[in-house]
Amino acid sequence: MTDMTPLPRPERQRKPDWIRVKAPTSVGFAETKAMMRRLNLNTVCEEAACPNIGECWTKKHATVMILGDTCTRACAFCNVKTGMPRAVDALEPQHTADAAAELGLEHIVITSVDRDDLPDGGASQFVKVIQALRRTTPKTTIEILTPDFRNKAQAAVESIVEARPDVYNHNLETVPRLYPTIRPGARYYASLRLLESVKRHDPSIFTKSGVMVGLGEERLEVHQVMDDMRSADIDFLTMGQYLQPTPRHAKVLDFVTPQAFDAYAAIARAKGFLLVAASPLTRSSYHAGDDFAALRAAREAKLARA
Ligand code: SF4
Repeated sequence: MTDMTPLPRPERQRKPDWIRVKAPTSVGFAETKAMMRRLNLNTVCEEAACPNIGECWTKKHATVMILGDTCTRACAFCNVKTGMPRAVDALEPQHTADAAAELGLEHIVITSVDRDDLPDGGASQFVKVIQALRRTTPKTTIEILTPDFRNKAQAAVESIVEARPDVYNHNLETVPRLYPTIRPGARYYASLRLLESVKRHDPSIFTKSGVMVGLGEERLEVHQVMDDMRSADIDFLTMGQYLQPTPRHAKVLDFVTPQAFDAYAAIARAKGFLLVAASPLTRSSYHAGDDFAALRAAREAKLARA
């Protein structure tokens, strides 16, 4: 190769037919995007290059990503920008509530980047967002999807649980064997303990967690993760296909078929989750509003049987 020879481009992996999604072109999509820009809000839908953005934003369902657009971790599966984040936006809680009001959301999902640089890991911003939502759109149910609050989880969970979100989600993401390569800044058992402590502090809050498949995990390892989640009394499991956001990220090692997802879902239900969502395009916040209604109904049915 001479100095002028361009470097070969890393190959993009071809997706199976069941992963194909339509390009986002609707009016609802354009309006949601314009509103997020106007309110200076970030969404995980855009930052994580979610394949469902066309469908969700057409219905004006968007997941707000608070605490900026820059993450202090660099997980091998995640498309969110890494680096030194900017100062926390004091207007973000009210802007998030304004977005929920404008979109007419019955259920909202709030997530964040990891903020290991902040003394509380960003927990107080979650609390402020929950409080702003309760003031502005009191009928909107609230689901939060938090980071692991490394070394600060105890205090973070206590303060957030006191603000009483309806659903507390924290994703385990993958099987413990793959943490060193896929989620190197996190600890599997610390994440499990975080979820367990939410239930210990307030059993009325639904807990939820998710895993991606296709990263090289074995089927029995996934079953073990389900058992671990049930030991931590997690109510709701989500499972979806990992997709490589760019060629720099971890490769997809396996495209799990819809039938294999159905088999995982059947096993998970047998293990006692109140609700299971498992399909190639399932993401933590995909159809979260409908799922929340199903979750509530499942709990009521269980209590009626008891
Ligand atoms: S699945 Fe979640 S992250 Fe993806 S577009 Fe829908 S709301 Fe956004």
